[in-house]
Amino acid sequence: METLLYLAHTEADGSLSKTALEALGAAASLASDLGAGFSVGLIGEDVTQAANAIGGCGAEKFFAVSGPDFGQSRYSTDTAAAVALIQAASATLVLAPATSRLARSLPGAAQRAGGRADTQVTALAVDSGSVVATRWYYRQRMFSNMTRSQRPWVITLSPGCFPAWEGEAGSPSVEAVSADAATNTTVKGVLAPSADEQTIRPDAEMLFVAGAGWTKKQADGQTNVGGAEKLILGFLDQAKASLGSSKSLVDLGGEGQEVLSFLSHLHQVGQTGSTPRHAKGLATCCHGEEPHVVGWRFITERRAVNLDEGCGWAQGKADVLYVADAFEVMTKVNELLGS
Ligand SMILES: Cc1cc2nc3c(=O)[nH]c(=O)nc-3n(C[C@H](O)[C@H](O)[C@H](O)COP(=O)(O)OP(=O)(O)OC[C@H]3O[C@@H](n4cnc5c(N)ncnc54)[C@H](O)[C@@H]3O)c2cc1C
Repeated sequence: METLLYLAHTEADGSLSKTALEALGAAASLASDLGAGFSVGLIGEDVTQAANAIGGCGAEKFFAVSGPDFGQSRYSTDTAAAVALIQAASATLVLAPATSRLARSLPGAAQRAGGRADTQVTALAVDSGSVVATRWYYRQRMFSNMTRSQRPWVITLSPGCFPAWEGEAGSPSVEAVSADAATNTTVKGVLAPSADEQTIRPDAEMLFVAGAGWTKKQADGQTNVGGAEKLILGFLDQAKASLGSSKSLVDLGGEGQEVLSFLSHLHQVGQTGSTPRHAKGLATCCHGEEPHVVGWRFITERRAVNLDEGCGWAQGKADVLYVADAFEVMTKVNELLGS
């Protein structure tokens, strides 16, 4: 029988992130499939708020490593805390969100605890009493279903793949666990663009992809990059969507062609770009070639606007293809959103 531990860290404001709640949803559901209980292990400066918020999750026990040394992301303290929690819970199976903080520290914790780690797992199942973890490889082109005999088996869960836990708060009693580690490294601050400047929004409901067509000569023989920028930013602002791009569009800058000023290679979606997770995606002026669409693996509902009825999206890659001029379509969409 597995002894399951859900492991998470608090955010700067003492809460649990959406990714952490998704991992909790996955842990609670796996425990129920296994017919086993589970424990919660929290890391943070003060975990009271987080523990109370998930008080009704059904965990049998709550453990925490807390204090000023555990408030910030630091490999030494996070790894030591995770090992201490795994040992306190006698965990054989550890489920945790793949936040940058835990993605960095948990493989080391698994090694120190004598177990193994698998990262960025996208699905969990139980087959004949054994836990099966799904992980994608080769830029999301192949997946494997894995079991492991080594314990503890530490699994980080990819964001956007599991429904977030929702339930009653409570006031569980939390068992304090101590952990010792060097604190030579200090986080002095976080530099991040403001929410409005930030066009990559992993938590957005919708992904808006811009393709190279936005910068190409249009029916009147002219390019209209300024108009494209206005339409795209106007839509992002109103729909609070996340922005993605095709490789061709972000590469154009390097070729000396006029490009959208707010795009960087970080926006690139696809085989050599990112694989974002959003409920909906809208591709505009993007051809829908395989190396691009492979990055849409986890977009649930896909739509595209393209002048070309024979583009890649029409080859079974989109749920809906609007054969239309994206300049016209997005002008109308923005108008409707504005009203
Ligand atoms: C090894 C390798 C890795 C790659 N990795 C990636 C990757 O990670 N991501 C990626 O995106 N690509 C990748 N590519 C490139 C990919 O194959 C395509 O070349 C690229 O995605 C094309 O970008 P695009 O669709 O924006 O541009 P284009 O192919 O130039 O398409 C522009 C589209 O805009 C349409 N259009 C023009 N004007 C309008 C308008 N007014 N309204 C509506 N539609 C309009 C046109 O009909 C056309 O379909 C990779 C290629 C290779 C070989």
